[in-house]
Amino acid sequence: MPRDVLTTKLAGFGTTIFAEMSALATSTGSINLGQGFPDTDGPAAVLDAAVDAIRSGVNQYPPGLGDPDLRQAIAEHHLRWYGLDVDPDTQVVVTAGATEALAGAMLGMLDTGDEVVLFEPIYDSYQAGIALAGATPVPVLLTPADDGRWHFDADALRAAVTDRTKLILLNTPHNPTGKVFDRSELELIAAVAIEHDLIVVTDEVYEHLVFEGSEHIPLATLPGMFERTLTISSGGKTFHTTGWKIGWMTGPEELVTAGRLAKQYLTYVNGAPFQPATAVGLRLGDDYYRTLVTDLQAARDCLADGLERAGFTTYRPEASYFVTVDIRSIGFDGNAMDFCRSLPATAGVVAVPASAFYMHPEHGDHLVRFACCKQLDVITAAVDKLVSAFGSTSSSTPSGATS
Ligand code: PMP
Ligand code: GLN
Repeated sequence: MPRDVLTTKLAGFGTTIFAEMSALATSTGSINLGQGFPDTDGPAAVLDAAVDAIRSGVNQYPPGLGDPDLRQAIAEHHLRWYGLDVDPDTQVVVTAGATEALAGAMLGMLDTGDEVVLFEPIYDSYQAGIALAGATPVPVLLTPADDGRWHFDADALRAAVTDRTKLILLNTPHNPTGKVFDRSELELIAAVAIEHDLIVVTDEVYEHLVFEGSEHIPLATLPGMFERTLTISSGGKTFHTTGWKIGWMTGPEELVTAGRLAKQYLTYVNGAPFQPATAVGLRLGDDYYRTLVTDLQAARDCLADGLERAGFTTYRPEASYFVTVDIRSIGFDGNAMDFCRSLPATAGVVAVPASAFYMHPEHGDHLVRFACCKQLDVITAAVDKLVSAFGSTSSSTPSGATS
């Protein structure tokens, strides 16, 4: 066996926490509230369109930029929801999920020694993409405040920018906290980007999973931001098709081209029959999108209420698939990883340690993420197990948590 098989760029990276915890759920027969994927199929029209595409011969490489009709549907989507006018031929590229768009952006834009400012906790693929590009992530910490929202310190953001910073990587709505960056926070980020002439890459895969009381605002819609923002999203969350891996990047031609040049050497293209099917999804009526949120919000409330009943300090998300809890409130004597590895035996449930989302795991050692993108009876069964394993039966609403 040759020595030093693994590139030093990936030193410290192991199997992703999602793969590890899903395998644990399978091997222990536990209820999997770890990895974020829905346990129901998406709209029949979208599924039927994929089947029709396969049956009608859409099975070879699609064009390098992506199926023209999907690119058109993405452009229509941006106009319909955000008033953003993008040219489907020069400002849209279809990717193998948001994951490949993110990797393409990092590999296509970053040089060795460049710095990327991002908000911690950090979705796992960001650090890997930045490391593979030879660049350095510089985190700005999000912390929960008494109002239950996660905040960052404006001075910490300004201080994170150096003369080596090339881009800011923003995830809104945010995984794992479920934070939706509001307009004033986005204005602050935009001002920093403009002042230092930075590119911003935004990951908006939860754009349609925003609960009552919050609003998703794409950074690209702020004055002066379209020209410096590469926006990334995908169909997986919106259409319950996480296994299809159809994503996209949109923005000014120069940024999209940089991402595409790297992307074309990763997969080149993917998912031919799923591309027209995703176009059908993007064109579904408002009713579909409304029901998607209403159903997920009921699931969020069921899970968050149950976690509170089990005694956890619970951070109710403004959006996304995830509810984060503080395990100190149940008196757990150990860190989040210990907690999650023992949870199948203790309660027959799998969750994800939020510490896996931190460059400094000690910042998240007490935080555990549960997925709410499951059927209500599955969530109820998981909650019953958690309440009987840990539980007080009265709801707990300590400071910093929503109730
Ligand atoms: N970004 C975030 C914040 C995510 O939570 C995920 C997981 N779905 C992705 C990107 C990856 O998206 P995709 O499955 O489209 O590659
Ligand atoms: N985005 C999903 C999550 O946060 C996982 C996707 C993956 O396994 N890479 O759970």
